[in-house]
Amino acid sequence: MNRELRETVCRTNRALLSSGLVTMHSGNVSGVDRESGTVYIKPSGVDYESLVPEQIVAVDLASGEPREGQLKPSVDLPHHLYLYRHMEDVGAVVHTHSNYATAFAALHRPIPLVLTAIADEFGGEIPCAPYIDNQGDHIGQAIVRWRGRGPSILLGNHGVFAWGETVHAALKAAIMTEDVAKTVHLALQLGQPLPIPPDEAEKWHSRYLTTYGQRDL
Ligand SMILES: [Zn+2]
Repeated sequence: MNRELRETVCRTNRALLSSGLVTMHSGNVSGVDRESGTVYIKPSGVDYESLVPEQIVAVDLASGEPREGQLKPSVDLPHHLYLYRHMEDVGAVVHTHSNYATAFAALHRPIPLVLTAIADEFGGEIPCAPYIDNQGDHIGQAIVRWRGRGPSILLGNHGVFAWGETVHAALKAAIMTEDVAKTVHLALQLGQPLPIPPDEAEKWHSRYLTTYGQRDL
């Protein structure tokens, strides 16, 4: 058992609530331990406030069967599993119905590339997949089919899926998606936001990926 990942997944599920990305039981975070082939995911229908690491459900990545969890895993488990099986560099997945981003999803509208923050984190617009039902692998397949360069996507009439190499990175992608959705929403109240030309967006994105932060120190 990967105690550290189980605790991180628990803490990050709770962070969804404190970040204002979810209400009640909606949303979920998972992380994968690729070495042991184990996915750690939020249990179904448990309050975030009372969630403790022991309640996080360990699931076998290959079979999708719970390993050692006492509770039922989130009903969104199949989508998380699909992404881990088809996006090899993904270490964590976050799903929310965060308000501003989901408002765009209600209109089947991507979040356009009109902010340098969008260029930084996403390298282009945040795409929106059409409406997809919740059966089998439909949601997972749609995410893989419709995703853009960046680590999140809107699902029409539904919400947000975000991902990253680490649990922290996936949470960040979910928070950034909501943050830029809010700003673009405000801009749309004032008028028509102006696009960033693709070559300009590229400068922001490549700087963000290569020189931003403390990695060279
Ligand atoms: Zn959902």
